[in-house]
Amino acid sequence: MTRAAMATETETFAFQDEINQLLSLIINTFYSNKEIFLRELISNSSDALDKIRFESLTDKSKLDAQPELFIHIIPDKATNMLTIVDSVIGMSKSDLVNNLGTIARSGTKEFMEALTAGADVSMIGQFGVGFYSAYLVAERVVVTTKHNDDEQYMWESQAGGSFTVTRDTSGEQLGRGTKMVLYLKDDQMEYLEEHRIKDLVKKHSEFISYPISLWAEKTTEKEISDDEDEEEKKDTEEGKVEDVDEEKEEKKKKIKEVSHEWNLVNKQKPIWKRKPEEINKEEYAAFYKSLTNDWEEHLAVKHFSVEGQLEFKAVLFVPKRAPLFDNKKKANNIKLYVRRVFIMDNCEELIPEYLSFVKGIVDSEDLPLNISRETLQQNKILKVIRKNLVKKCIELFFEIAENKEDYNKFYEAFSKNLKLGIHEDSQNRTKIAELLRYHSTKSGDELTSLKDYVTRMKEGQNEIYYITGESKKAVENSPFLEKLKKKGYEVIYMVDAIDEYAIGQLKEFEGKKLVSATKEGLKLDESEDEKKKQEELKEKFEGLCNVIKEVLGDKVEKVIVSDRVVDSPCCLVTGEYGWTANMERIMKAQALKDSSMAGYMSSKKTM
Ligand code: ADP
Repeated sequence: MTRAAMATETETFAFQDEINQLLSLIINTFYSNKEIFLRELISNSSDALDKIRFESLTDKSKLDAQPELFIHIIPDKATNMLTIVDSVIGMSKSDLVNNLGTIARSGTKEFMEALTAGADVSMIGQFGVGFYSAYLVAERVVVTTKHNDDEQYMWESQAGGSFTVTRDTSGEQLGRGTKMVLYLKDDQMEYLEEHRIKDLVKKHSEFISYPISLWAEKTTEKEISDDEDEEEKKDTEEGKVEDVDEEKEEKKKKIKEVSHEWNLVNKQKPIWKRKPEEINKEEYAAFYKSLTNDWEEHLAVKHFSVEGQLEFKAVLFVPKRAPLFDNKKKANNIKLYVRRVFIMDNCEELIPEYLSFVKGIVDSEDLPLNISRETLQQNKILKVIRKNLVKKCIELFFEIAENKEDYNKFYEAFSKNLKLGIHEDSQNRTKIAELLRYHSTKSGDELTSLKDYVTRMKEGQNEIYYITGESKKAVENSPFLEKLKKKGYEVIYMVDAIDEYAIGQLKEFEGKKLVSATKEGLKLDESEDEKKKQEELKEKFEGLCNVIKEVLGDKVEKVIVSDRVVDSPCCLVTGEYGWTANMERIMKAQALKDSSMAGYMSSKKTM
């Protein structure tokens, strides 16, 4: 094809607005942490290698165009270009246009907001826009890519609002994969230094499971005799040897030859294959960061292997906080490997939803390599692995609970998940219940566990009392607590919407029934004397009760004399088996579709 013909094939596209803003922000703001661009690009390569590896499990021919799976880094000081080549799945023309410029990820806006709020640019990967970090160091980026199902295309942009896409017929043919060329800014030449690149890969990308090789200079000293000298010189003239440094030495000569070779930079064997006692905290942290794109270390880790009928190794991490931004794609982060081969991210069958905040890897010896998402669901081995993982996660939470400060952090971030677990996981319900913490009438500023509550129970107290509501403030001074407080009974404040669901399933703890202070049927031990007094009062005020009921009509079910309140004149209680008033509030807020349910669940109030 002639140059003119090729030129006509170049199409220009405008960056989507938000992406354009993001690019301006990346280019025009000063960030000291520019080095993370390399980690982002390598991580993209690794993700895209995962995809082709996964596809090739069921169709080997997908690898034909390029059987090797690799990541190559090529610095070139002569041209100030840093090139990253991989043999990934590649992108079709429409992928290129969509993924790199015209369709904004939902994280784009969130990331810009986070940045303006002072977040570090290294968080970019969590928001799904890591590619654009190339512009931290490059003034121009050219992406050449070849997907099995399409021709080779070239994407190019200097930011500034637009990019071009051209069919690439003249460039080096990739077979399959992506080549990213970064034309570095004048002040970013450090990223062409071999030692800098090596350090960066070690620091951020050591645990990438594909070989990362650097095209590095190699200097060798060679002794040659005088006769060989002539030939060497010829070689040099022909350009085979790039640089020759001669050193005369009697008959023999020493020369320095500079050549290039691939240096493997990530040499570590997978961390889960090593012995836990030989791995230090920093190594786990580095692995965790490379796995999750988190910029902070993990809070806790559990590394274990299961042997016997079933064999697998796993490393599980609990992050320090809940994700800032819920990136659906990366919501579930247990990576599944089979005999060291990566099978898939996000294996939902491996861990229940309530534990989706746990990150890590599982490497199974027993699963077949060609397992697909469809067959996963029925897989018995996977079910057993899942059961083990849940058990180990709960163990890990108990380990965190040994340190109060850590546990507070953990609980603040993930208590909702635990409560969801109580609701959904009947097998582990009682165990998880031990992990719950609440404020109570006696806990002060601290949180208390149900176990501790039980140790504080008064003589004659057989039940655990709780009150649900919107906030601690709202329930603290509730008239429902008056009688219980007077008797010296502790009452737990449950102020999370999900508490209602969790308690509804839990029902009891260590054989003690959980009883709501706001429901009818709250029976406290009473002496014969007190009972008699009650009866007398009932008779005496029957007339008044009838009058009040007449006045209130349908608004209340009945009006009775009760000793539930001490200082307040009256209170409204809900039926023992229906919703509490708090639950009614929650259900109404959720705009319940089925109003018939609301009819019989929201019980009439007794005054
Ligand atoms: P993320 O990787 O978090 O989805 P990026 O902005 O880093 O977001 O990349 C956008 C998309 O571009 C990726 O989802 C992927 O489809 C594609 N992509 C990026 N790098 C490569 C690559 N080296 N090879 C193939 N596709 C890539």
